[in-house]
Amino acid sequence: MFRETVKVQPKCVECGTSLELYEIDYEKSRRIMQCPQCGLYHFYRKDLFGRWKLVKVGRVSDLWR
Ligand SMILES: [Zn+2]
Repeated sequence: MFRETVKVQPKCVECGTSLELYEIDYEKSRRIMQCPQCGLYHFYRKDLFGRWKLVKVGRVSDLWR
């Protein structure tokens, strides 16, 4: 069976633009990505399988502080 090995680039939930990494926290296994188009922040957390999972989306970057 053919398996997709290419990493999927996360896209903005609002405008579909490819997100850029804003901040990453390896200790807490989480990261924040920002949309270069509309500035929306996307909060990700690593799941048990090591995949990044979108947790929430917001206009401010300090929702986790
Ligand atoms: Zn956007």
